[in-house]
Amino acid sequence: MTSAPWHNDPALLDRFHPDHPDDLQVLLHDGEPRRCGRTPEGCWVTVRGVRQTLRIPIAPEGTSPPLLADAVRWVERPVYEGILLNEPQQLTTAHKGDTLLFVTSPGIPLPVRVTEAYVGERSSWSIQPCNRCGADQALDPPTIMAHTRFPDAPAGSVPVAFSAFCPCGGRCCSRSSKMPRRCPSNRRRASRGGSSGEARVKGDAGSGPPLKRGTGRRPKPRGPGNASVRIHVSGRETARY
Ligand SMILES: [Zn+2]
Repeated sequence: MTSAPWHNDPALLDRFHPDHPDDLQVLLHDGEPRRCGRTPEGCWVTVRGVRQTLRIPIAPEGTSPPLLADAVRWVERPVYEGILLNEPQQLTTAHKGDTLLFVTSPGIPLPVRVTEAYVGERSSWSIQPCNRCGADQALDPPTIMAHTRFPDAPAGSVPVAFSAFCPCGGRCCSRSSKMPRRCPSNRRRASRGGSSGEARVKGDAGSGPPLKRGTGRRPKPRGPGNASVRIHVSGRETARY
């Protein structure tokens, strides 16, 4: 292979197009489908480099917020930068020729697009991986996810923790805990939230059918009608993610 770090990333093994060794499919999205109303699409991207390293805190199960930086385990993952090769079918925040960022995640069938806002917040939140598919990334920054679930929360207040359902169709999968600080309004909310101090809300269980693990792992031949494709759950269905 080459010295390019994306060619040596085990999480990207076998994902590149055989005739275009820097091209792979990325799961593009406008954010959580329950918020934006649009479903993610798999689109072809030419990798240009590594923008930065995403540091992901992993808290021991059952840890109550607020988490402390020295009490969590840290995992690092590259944030890749690439050029979108095709115009998405129905997304509005990404267009052909745009530079975009993406990371890999267990459970999600393709590397997933991230925004600078997401990357900026992700290291301050611990997300418990989905107990069904293992995904440890979300489609919106945690503060946006919190606002989606608590639209009437006072301005500036953010729950210290919340739950969500994973788009894989499984059960509650994500729980985030802001760390290491929380604002006074969050402290008041937490004090009313039960023994663990967590604000909880159920996410959108109807966000889509389950995805098959491993779907779309190999790049498909590019062609005029196949340049931008949805994630396929089966031979005929289009997955919502
Ligand atoms: Zn999942």
